[in-house]
Amino acid sequence: MKARVDENLCAGTRACEQACPAVFEVEDGLARVKVDTVPEDSHEACREAMENCPTGAISIDE
Ligand code: SF4
Repeated sequence: MKARVDENLCAGTRACEQACPAVFEVEDGLARVKVDTVPEDSHEACREAMENCPTGAISIDE
């Protein structure tokens, strides 16, 4: 699984970082994905982060 953040849509709410800190990190108001591949044990949290992003900035490649 791979995750991406659209920088043009991210509003820096930190919701993704809270839902899945192993994958998302927010710095200077912008979320970034800090892993190349989402580890197996973070798949569920990562999907949750995508579903809860208020601006739809997160996309996942399963
Ligand atoms: S939840 Fe969405 S809008 Fe908020 S920091 Fe993460 S990617 Fe950006």
